[in-house]
Amino acid sequence: MSTDVKQPAGLADSFDVIVIGGGPAGYPAAIRAAQNKLSVACIDEWKNRDGAPAFGGTCLNAGCIPSKALLESSELYYRLHEEFAQHGIKVAGAQLDLAQMQKRKSGIVRGMTQGILALFKGAGVTPLQGHGRLLAGRKVGFVAHDGTRRTLSARHVVLASGSAPIELRSAPFKAPYIVDSWGALDLDAVPKRLGVIGAGVIGLELGSVWRRLGAEVVVLEALPDFLTFADQQLAKEALRHFKKQGLDIRLGAKVTGAAVSGNAVDVAYTDAKGEQHLSVDRLVVAIGRRPYTKDLLANDSGVELDERGFIKVDEHCHTGAENVWAIGDCVRGPMLAHKGKEEGVMVADLIAGRFGEMNYKVVPSVIYTAPEIAWVGLTEEQVKASGRDYKVGVFPFLASGRARAMEQAAGFAKLIAARDDDEILGVHVIGPLAGELIAEAVLAMEYSASSEDLQRTIHAHPTLSEALHEAALAADKRAIDSLNR
Ligand SMILES: Cc1cc2nc3c(=O)[nH]c(=O)nc-3n(C[C@H](O)[C@H](O)[C@H](O)COP(=O)(O)OP(=O)(O)OC[C@H]3O[C@@H](n4cnc5c(N)ncnc54)[C@H](O)[C@@H]3O)c2cc1C
Repeated sequence: MSTDVKQPAGLADSFDVIVIGGGPAGYPAAIRAAQNKLSVACIDEWKNRDGAPAFGGTCLNAGCIPSKALLESSELYYRLHEEFAQHGIKVAGAQLDLAQMQKRKSGIVRGMTQGILALFKGAGVTPLQGHGRLLAGRKVGFVAHDGTRRTLSARHVVLASGSAPIELRSAPFKAPYIVDSWGALDLDAVPKRLGVIGAGVIGLELGSVWRRLGAEVVVLEALPDFLTFADQQLAKEALRHFKKQGLDIRLGAKVTGAAVSGNAVDVAYTDAKGEQHLSVDRLVVAIGRRPYTKDLLANDSGVELDERGFIKVDEHCHTGAENVWAIGDCVRGPMLAHKGKEEGVMVADLIAGRFGEMNYKVVPSVIYTAPEIAWVGLTEEQVKASGRDYKVGVFPFLASGRARAMEQAAGFAKLIAARDDDEILGVHVIGPLAGELIAEAVLAMEYSASSEDLQRTIHAHPTLSEALHEAALAADKRAIDSLNR
């Protein structure tokens, strides 16, 4: 990268910390470093569809936030048709205004991403919009979006370049017919038939959005089992509900080809019965994400990638190159915004000589379907495989007054605790607001609470949180509001 060019005026040459990547891993790292009285620049190259640069990375622009905006809107639409009558509310003539739904989503994204600039201003972080590349000796080549270049230097560099969708060789992206998750969030009409490749978190959330809005949705999953990474009791319950909602989930279905023909996509796949064909109007490929490190590292930067393309780091996210750190989706571990955020905060504190630590054992996972799915810690299958003797408590939301009042009584809360010392090993919830409920379990496990600690904690009545209380009691067959089996 040449550096002998026009440079942005008034910009410092050197910083205590330069963060490359302004997603949910990078921007918190920058803010915390600034709070720690360090001089900080955060470089980010994201541009939205309209060409406007925006901080916030995948999460705010094309992931967590727009998907949750559409999940919320589509859920309201679904409930209006399927549930309101049960409450005694009759709504005649309700119609879908997808343009308004998309406009609301875009407004939320705009507000949130612009909010990062305000946070940077408040904290004193220098925002730099353009490409960053780590050179030897913690120099950083920066190319602004307008093409101006300069070389910056830093005492510490934090790499937070994120991830990108994996393309399926047998079904390459071809907008607007074969799209990735970002494309699936931007559809301007409800497809009559939608195909989704991949029954993972993203595939299920996106499939749910368009199913609720009226599409016939077929989800093709290569693995023979559903949600293999989740507790299987939970996965079974989830599959039952999704099928009831009309999501046509086909397991053991390996896609072998996809071709656009006219206005449709012909998808070929094989399953136990042999070769199958499916015709859909739009096809979403949601088979996972890969670390994104394109043009990030000069050959002599000293940073290494592993065999899967992740930046190699130790448990403190240090790369091994002096004072170079890496966080978020571009390093090992679950590809989740909150995991990246905590890594960013840890690294910024370590750089400032403060205490910093990540407890990877208690990173919660949430699938924002209905019912919602959330868990933390080990699944029952993992506990069984570990050989540790354990006990399980399950509480069905059917027995929760609050869930019944909400007409949201599907699912259950499940707590797994060690039989010897009562340590909580895992908590799994499928049901209303599971993603909110799991926070209590995360806190309990972070502080090494026992199941008895939860049993002895007062939970307000009637609340959904009582389900966790009762699940803890059920682990010792002392539940009050459900039968102890
Ligand atoms: C549809 C969808 C829904 C999701 N929902 C959730 C959810 O509900 N909860 C959750 O926890 N996670 C969710 N995720 C995952 C979440 O988005 C990621 O885990 C998170 O964004 C990772 O954060 P990051 O900062 O590591 O990377 P990113 O968010 O990808 O940000 C990286 C940033 O770095 C920039 N960049 C990369 N290279 C350079 C460079 N060389 N120079 C300058 N800038 C660079 C990129 O442009 C980008 O802006 C979802 C993802 C998708 C796709």
